Amino acid sequence: MTAARGTDGVLVDRYGRVARDLRVSLTDKCNLRCTYCMPAEGLPWLAGPQLLSDDEIVRLVRVAVERLGVTEVRFTGGEPLIRPGVVGIVAAVAALTPRPRISLTTNGLGLDRLAPALRAAGLDRVNVSLDTLDAARFARLTRRDRLADVLAGLAGAAAAGLTPVKINSVLMRGVNDDEAPALLRFALAHGYELRFIEQMPLDAQHGWDRAAMVTADEILATLRAGTDPPTGAGARVEADPHTGAGLPRTGFDLTPDPAERGAAPAETWLVDGGPARVGVIGSVTRPFCGDCDRTRLTADGQVRACLFATEESDLRGALRAGADDDELARRWRAAMWGKRAGHGIDDPTFLQPARPMSAIGG
Ligand code: SAM
Repeated sequence: MTAARGTDGVLVDRYGRVARDLRVSLTDKCNLRCTYCMPAEGLPWLAGPQLLSDDEIVRLVRVAVERLGVTEVRFTGGEPLIRPGVVGIVAAVAALTPRPRISLTTNGLGLDRLAPALRAAGLDRVNVSLDTLDAARFARLTRRDRLADVLAGLAGAAAAGLTPVKINSVLMRGVNDDEAPALLRFALAHGYELRFIEQMPLDAQHGWDRAAMVTADEILATLRAGTDPPTGAGARVEADPHTGAGLPRTGFDLTPDPAERGAAPAETWLVDGGPARVGVIGSVTRPFCGDCDRTRLTADGQVRACLFATEESDLRGALRAGADDDELARRWRAAMWGKRAGHGIDDPTFLQPARPMSAIGG
C-alpha cells in the first residue's frame, strides 16, 4: 500500500502505517550489565552535553503529542530510573493535552522506592525486565547480584497501582530456557503479565546467532509441556513462586487470546482458559512490521523510525539551532516517511544497526 506523503498531521509512512506510540530513551546508561546486551565494562556513554535536557525531552514529546498524533509514550533506556529527572519528566508529559498514556520499561532496580512518586506524577504502568528467578543465575546473567531488588521493584509497582505490571523475559539457550514455566508460574501467582521476547540482533558485542535463538514456537511448546514431571493423577499443584521448582505439575493450556491484537508486538494466549494471559513477542520468527505503530527518540535527540533503522534524523541539532515546533514536527514527519517496510533480519543484506539496544532505547 502507498500513502499520500505526510506534510501535516500524523506520522505516516509511505506504506500507510501511522506511528502513535513513541519510545523515548532517557539515558543510554544502565546499572546492570546483562551479558546479552553489553560488555562487563559497559559502553562509551553519551557525554552530558550530547544528552537532551529534561526540558528538551518534554518539548519534543509535546510536539509529538500536540502536533503528530502520538497517544502513547513509553520511557526506556538504558535504565530510565537512573535519570535524576525521571519523575519530573513524567509529570510534565502527563500534563500535556491530549494526555498520552505513559508507561516505562525498567530493570526494576529502585522501583520499589520510586513507584509511588512515579504513580503520583502520572505514570500509568510499567514493564519490568526479568529473565530468571534464580539468584545465582541472575547474578551471572546481569553481572550484578540484584534479584531481590527487582522482585521488590515488581511488588512496589503493583502496590503503587502501576498496573498491569508486565514482565519482559528474554530466553537464551542453555542459559535460562529451562525457566519458561517457572517464570509464568511466578507471574500468575503475583498477577503480573508475562511476555517472552525473542532475542534480536541488537547486542553491543554482535554475538547474536539466529541458530541459537530460542524461537516463539519453542517457547510455546515448552510452556505447554511444562518442565516438572506430572504426577500420576496429573494434579495441578502451584509451585513456590520464587523458585517454581520441585513441585509436580503438568504444562499450561494455552489458547489464542480472542482480544484484538492491534499494533501490539506481543501475541497473547489465555492461560488455562484465562483470564490470565501470556505473551510472546516473536520479533524475529513472527515479525509484525506491517502493523508497527512506533517511533523512537534516542537520549541524544535522534528520531529512529525502527529499532533496526540504520538512519537517524537529528532533532537535537535542529532544536538547539532554534527550530520552532512546526519545523521540528516537519522533520519528524520526514524521518518517519522513510520508514522501511520491515526490519529485514532475514534479508541476506541485513546489517545490524551501529547502536546497540541500550543506546537506542529498548
Ligand atoms: N533497562 C531497561 C530494562 O531492563 O527493561 C530498559 C532497556 S532494556 C534494553 C529493554 C528490554 O530489552 C529488556 O527487557 C531487555 O531484556 C531487552 N533486550 C536487550 N537486548 C535484547 C536483545 N538483543 N533482544 C531482545 N531483547 C533485548
